[in-house]
Amino acid sequence: MFKNWFSKSCYFCGKKTKDTTRYLDDQGNTVHVCFQCVPVAERRALRKQ
Ligand SMILES: [Zn+2]
Repeated sequence: MFKNWFSKSCYFCGKKTKDTTRYLDDQGNTVHVCFQCVPVAERRALRKQ
């Protein structure tokens, strides 16, 4: 039940964190981005889910 909650790894840096923001990539897949990489996601124009 709590498995997914804990095992998110950041789309950009690959670090495991539970503080992720969900974005959609070009193919419409959900990707998780840690707070440090949010500016990168914004620059890549990923859509916030
Ligand atoms: Zn990251």
